Amino acid sequence: MSQRTFYYNITFVLHLVSLSLVAGSATAVAAAADQVLYNANVYTVNEKQPWAQAIAIRKGKIVFVGSDAGARGYVNEHTQVRDMQKRLIMPGFQDAHVHPMEGMSLGSFMGCDLLPLRQESNDPEDWIEGLKACNEIDFPHDWILGGGHDNGDLETLERLPRELLDEVFPDKPAAFMEKSSHSMWVNSKALERLGINSASANPQGGKFFKDPVTGQLTGVLSDSAGDELMHKALAKTAKLQEARFDAVLGAQALMASYGITSAANARVYWTRGNLEPWQRAEREGGLKIRNVMSLWVYPHLEDEYQLQQLKNMYREDPSSLLRVTQVKFYSDGVPDLNSAAVLKPYGHLIHPDADPTGGNYFTESRLARYLAELQKVGFGGIIHAIGDRGAHEALNAIEQAQRAMGDLGVNTPRHYVTHVNWVSAQDIPRFKQLNVPADSQVNYLEYEDYVNGYGNYYEPYSRDTADEPMSRLLINNESDTMAMPDIISTGARLVISSDWDVAELNPLFSIQNATQEYQGARVDGRILTERELLALAVKAYTYNAAYALRHEQYTGSLEVGKFADLVVLDRNIFEVAIPTIRDTNVLLTMVGGKPVYRSPGFRMQRGRL
Ligand SMILES: [Zn+2]
Repeated sequence: MSQRTFYYNITFVLHLVSLSLVAGSATAVAAAADQVLYNANVYTVNEKQPWAQAIAIRKGKIVFVGSDAGARGYVNEHTQVRDMQKRLIMPGFQDAHVHPMEGMSLGSFMGCDLLPLRQESNDPEDWIEGLKACNEIDFPHDWILGGGHDNGDLETLERLPRELLDEVFPDKPAAFMEKSSHSMWVNSKALERLGINSASANPQGGKFFKDPVTGQLTGVLSDSAGDELMHKALAKTAKLQEARFDAVLGAQALMASYGITSAANARVYWTRGNLEPWQRAEREGGLKIRNVMSLWVYPHLEDEYQLQQLKNMYREDPSSLLRVTQVKFYSDGVPDLNSAAVLKPYGHLIHPDADPTGGNYFTESRLARYLAELQKVGFGGIIHAIGDRGAHEALNAIEQAQRAMGDLGVNTPRHYVTHVNWVSAQDIPRFKQLNVPADSQVNYLEYEDYVNGYGNYYEPYSRDTADEPMSRLLINNESDTMAMPDIISTGARLVISSDWDVAELNPLFSIQNATQEYQGARVDGRILTERELLALAVKAYTYNAAYALRHEQYTGSLEVGKFADLVVLDRNIFEVAIPTIRDTNVLLTMVGGKPVYRSPGFRMQRGRL
């Protein structure tokens, strides 16, 4: 039976029921909607019915998608009828990898912002006066915390990076997060607080960098070594929890303003108390969008203890705005620090302590064991993999976990790999083979855009780059550093996410960029046009992301029975010039039929059907 026939049968039966109950009330509408939006261009991301004119919503769910005439049957005297004046309505965007709390924290608990200083000069010696101003910031903790530099900036210093910070902050612990979030630049007081000295052993997945001549700590802590510092500095206090709560609320409003209706918070530091502000926001009605918590899995914690703690936090209710259904792992780090795991040794080591083939936060076997154990309760894993060995090991671990999965019914997890780009030829077909979503980012900016205030700036890793140190790093490596078009060509499930605050949050910016970055991708051997890539990118940021978040039965496309999670845009992105897509404005964002963002000055017009 088709959906349509089914619908008519049901309404017929309901009509009979209502007629027998309310004799003579022939005007009774069986399934009147609370709202009907009509005279719109509705792009559904449902291949069976890509476009429609109208959509009807009842109790937060979609009850009709189709023509204006068809929507008439859903109107009664209580229905709000809105004339959308041909605006584009689409499913809300779903960000499968974003850092909302970190994104809001530069303004509060990590408020010493290096970005403006860096725009003036790349030499940290020139930042001293600017840094001194950070002594005046009222932090909700007793550290000086900030970020925004690049580790390369510190390599030009003629003294130890730590000594520069000691000059500015002699009495207080100070720490700055590199813009990739993979290293920390700290002063001597911070090292003292951590109990680290030049004899301390490196933690799993991280390094305390030392001067190769004197053996003294330089004040750069890479990867998990930097995380351990942050766990100390940002350990839970009442004041900090208040600041975090404000960050959660601020991030909800910001994401809604970009049309984001679901987001995977891809690194919840639960030992620092980062989950509680979300739970409080849910209790107090402060959540606007659907939030999936991806609990951070700590490389340094003991396995049995950590697995039990994580399992205790699992919580699944697909209709709630807070689901605790994911765990986040780092397989490896980043190439700039020689910490991305690579199949062939780096052509250049940034430091004598660096491992020539990169590091592992989690080894393949430990990763496989965690996935197999955590999927039993329903957790899906997001695995950060940047190097080609990182991707290889992540896929191996997922393959092993899938073999152990058995039948978990609706709770079958969706493990996925994020940052996918640098992948060896043998691993390119495996995303499709294993049905692993390939979650990628394309929201780095041209330098001019960055200085014009469009957001952060980073470059994809490429041996062809003008960035000389990067091409030296990758000189031995044969894997494709721009593998996504080939991965798409295998028919793998493409997901696009922001990784904000590492890069730009705006989904439309990524969707525009994907039409350039994924050129060459094929379907059935035929190269996709720019317009086809656009449709693919929209699907990647809606339905496919919903699949990765395991709630595609409820959201991700505009179909009867799903939540009315949608955006209204100020232009039809399928008709405008592609380079202008990123300038599209979101007029309205709805989650479960409720407006959670409305652009200033936009009002929906009352209409009649
Ligand atoms: Zn990230």
